[in-house]
Amino acid sequence: MNDTNLDFIREIVTADIAAGKIQAPVTRFPPEPNGYLHIGHAKSICINFGIAQEFGGRCHLRFDDTNPTKEEQEYIDSIQEDVRWLGFDWGPHLYYASDYFEQLYEWAEHLVREGKAYVDDLSADETREYRGTLTEPGRESPYRNRSVEENLDLFRGMRAGEFPDGARVLRAKIDMASPNIMLRDPVMYRILHAAHPHAGDKWCLYPTYDFAHGQSDAIERITHSICTLEFDVHRPLYDWFIENLPVPWRPRQFEFARLNLSYTMLSKRRLLQLVDEGHVRGWNDPRMPTLSGIRRRGYPPEAIREFARMTGVVKRESIVDYALLEHCVRAHLNAAAQRRMAVLRPLRVVIENYPEGQVEEFEAINNPENPAAGTRQAPFSRVLFIEQEDFMEDPPKKFFRLAPGREVRLRYAYFITCREAVKDAAGQTVELRCTYDPATRGGNAPDGRSPKATLHWVSAAHAVPAEVRLYEYLFRRPDPHAADDFVAELNPSSEEVLTGCRLEPSLANLPVGSRVQFERVGYFCVDPDSQPGRPVFNRTVTLRDTWAKIQAKDAHK
Ligand code: ATP
Ligand code: MG
Repeated sequence: MNDTNLDFIREIVTADIAAGKIQAPVTRFPPEPNGYLHIGHAKSICINFGIAQEFGGRCHLRFDDTNPTKEEQEYIDSIQEDVRWLGFDWGPHLYYASDYFEQLYEWAEHLVREGKAYVDDLSADETREYRGTLTEPGRESPYRNRSVEENLDLFRGMRAGEFPDGARVLRAKIDMASPNIMLRDPVMYRILHAAHPHAGDKWCLYPTYDFAHGQSDAIERITHSICTLEFDVHRPLYDWFIENLPVPWRPRQFEFARLNLSYTMLSKRRLLQLVDEGHVRGWNDPRMPTLSGIRRRGYPPEAIREFARMTGVVKRESIVDYALLEHCVRAHLNAAAQRRMAVLRPLRVVIENYPEGQVEEFEAINNPENPAAGTRQAPFSRVLFIEQEDFMEDPPKKFFRLAPGREVRLRYAYFITCREAVKDAAGQTVELRCTYDPATRGGNAPDGRSPKATLHWVSAAHAVPAEVRLYEYLFRRPDPHAADDFVAELNPSSEEVLTGCRLEPSLANLPVGSRVQFERVGYFCVDPDSQPGRPVFNRTVTLRDTWAKIQAKDAHK
């Protein structure tokens, strides 16, 4: 690494290597398997795996699985799938905090023997009451001064299953008057007669996240324990455990500001609520900020990694504009996605002077940004579809597309002129009668005239019927996190399903997950709901780059 623009964590790693403290960093991504990963987690993954890669170290994937009541194998599997999809590899370094439960238990007994932990019988309500507040010190539990023998005996009884859930806890004996509430005798173990998705039913006693997390880092010899800012108040507690236990290694913790994104919500708990209450199609709904959702939506992993890089590693909280994420997606797809023609809201066009039964194939460019992507053939015939919105009976001044008497170019094909709009009983335009100019074959006129508009089209006889789902922001306000009732802020038009779409034939049977640009319309991705010959496409992102526009405006200020 010789980048001069290092973020503060990369600077620390660089300095630690230069000072000979470490040879290479060992980092980890430590999710609790209690939900699907979201784009905030992606940022943490990119930082941890990215630093390991750049400095020749390694990054572990470790499940901090201390709460069996909220954790499931489904989440363990999805997390691994998502990290791999993002493009990272933990090699042999897949770990579970639950694999350390025996060691953690021994360390807990060590603290009991040292007189630094005790079994407490206060109820949950009493514990809360004794804890005090930010302005008032806590009070010591009447059980705080139990003898070491009694504590050991009770703690072993807890492990042996002698007590019901919630009857007792093990607490660290630190300081009930500490200004840092985390240090007011935090709970280390609670009784939970519940099977664990990884450890099975070996345990009825589970360590808290706070007791397991730092020690797990120590066991794995993590050099830089990178986490989000809300953990800075936990750091003194993590340090206390490490100082008071015979751990093999002292990890150091560094905090950065979590990613917040406008118009969405990055909290597993709240995302779970949206899933459970049926507001979305599941964890992988294309509107969800989960990695499985944005994958289904069509966001490429390269774009997510670029987004993580652009948002940086900083200490100050902020809300990143969702438009920046879309900008990264667009930038990648512009270079990578092939162009196709697709009509979302079809309007029938009959070319009256085009011979019945004739079909011509026109060569269409797959990607103007990438000549290597080649060309394909698009069939043209007498009856076509264009977009309803590309025609106006009575066009305003700035509308240059099709109107009665007006000529436009059909991309790659011919110029056509609208002769008549046919209406149904309700006065809706249902068909356009047009003529074409055979001299404009391929989309150019020998006399050099050039219509102001070029439209996309599909041949009716060759078109593939499809469903297309248009997506907008999941929430209607940029800061749903600030709402009293965030569910009430869901955007009622976040999904629009169009069932009568018509696509060019090359779009019939693309593999699920394929990404294309529908010319003039946006980027789209094949959904798993697709059936053979009847694809379903999700709109990944529109073509309009609002973020680039904002940047340009700011630059002129
Ligand atoms: P949530 O707040 O969504 O419930 P969490 O923090 O409880 O998430 P964990 O499974 O504990 O989820 O997170 C694993 C790692 O991802 C942690 O190191 C955490 O700091 C990091 N992380 C979680 N959310 C974000 C975010 N929005 N931005 C950056 N990192 C995040
Ligand atoms: Mg957490």
